Amino acid sequence: MDIIDKATKQWTIEVRRQLHRHPDPTGEEEGTQALLFQFLEELGIPARPIAGNGIIADIEGGLPGRTVALRADLDALLIDEVPTDRNTDYISENPGVMHGCGHDGHMAMVLGVAKVLAAKGDQLPGRLRLIFQPHEEKHPGGATTVIDEGGLEGVDAIFGYHIMGYLPSGLIAFRPGPQMAHIRTFEITFTGKSGHHMDPERCIDPIVMASRFVDTIERDVSNELDPTHPFVFGFGSIHGGTQFNQTPDKVVLDGTFRTFDTDDADTMSQVMERNLDSMVMAFTKDPEEDVPSIEFSLVKGYPVVENDPDLATRAAALLRNEGYEIDPVTPLNFGAEDFAYYLKEVPGLFMFLGTNNPGKGITAVNHSSRFDIDEDILEIGVRAMATLALDSLAQEDSV
Ligand SMILES: [Zn+2]
Ligand SMILES: [Zn+2]
Repeated sequence: MDIIDKATKQWTIEVRRQLHRHPDPTGEEEGTQALLFQFLEELGIPARPIAGNGIIADIEGGLPGRTVALRADLDALLIDEVPTDRNTDYISENPGVMHGCGHDGHMAMVLGVAKVLAAKGDQLPGRLRLIFQPHEEKHPGGATTVIDEGGLEGVDAIFGYHIMGYLPSGLIAFRPGPQMAHIRTFEITFTGKSGHHMDPERCIDPIVMASRFVDTIERDVSNELDPTHPFVFGFGSIHGGTQFNQTPDKVVLDGTFRTFDTDDADTMSQVMERNLDSMVMAFTKDPEEDVPSIEFSLVKGYPVVENDPDLATRAAALLRNEGYEIDPVTPLNFGAEDFAYYLKEVPGLFMFLGTNNPGKGITAVNHSSRFDIDEDILEIGVRAMATLALDSLAQEDSV
């Protein structure tokens, strides 16, 4: 089905470029919201704000059908975009802020789908809901606010994209069930006892404690988890000490870990606590003293992005039939996404759309200062999402 003509393809590219020129950081998406309102007005689609800087809009069809939501995220990153041969016409005009994660493309594609489906007028089944969600990149995310404000009310299914720099241009990749990770961030303060290096017996070294934690925690965790369950640990920063010949009082270490199973994440949290408790015992010199001590804080981030298996199977068959390049069993991705919250509420499908095209010099990964998208994928993305949305809107069974 050819549902996107040349003019719509060009419009989608222009929309993406305009959004790309005017990126807003997480939580400050007012400018992007204003641009989106303009585009929706141009399309004659009534819209209202949601979740602060977000927008929600319904396109009412004339035929009976379900309610299907499409979601795009709005925020950009605090990165200085590097000029390249390609981006001369659309490089960021906000210094230090850049659409380096493809969210400009996500918005443009949802607007593209809105344009082609709104044009169906009375022939459109059901109700198509557009959700433009702010604040994706940073915990606690904007999705929960959208949900709290009723954004999913009446929704039968939800679809969303993430453009991915590591996947080949035009490939639509997803998997049934878990697809992206649950993340937890941690901060640990190791308090020892400061003093001169000539007196190690009078000091308790928090640098050694932190090092021991870094060195042992992954093995401790693997001793507790099913070996077939994947996880990763990452350390983000470590700070402590000021003077080369002094044992400092404190070291602060932070990082994240990621899994595809919440029970595993709970186990990992407990293993960390046990590792740290035993460290306190091992480093205690005088039980009367209140050092060493360890403060451990943990923040639960986005849950697992878990696609509805029936919907994933149905989408795979439909897209394959229509000749799309798809990977319906894409490998697990350790990134985290607040689209996960929608998937906990309603059946849905989160799809990766590849943009890697060495022939055009587009090879940078997401969050790179050289990230760019192959604009030809926008047409593919619009067509595929419109196809899936139409199928879902017209569907009568419960999937
Ligand atoms: Zn990102
Ligand atoms: Zn992103």
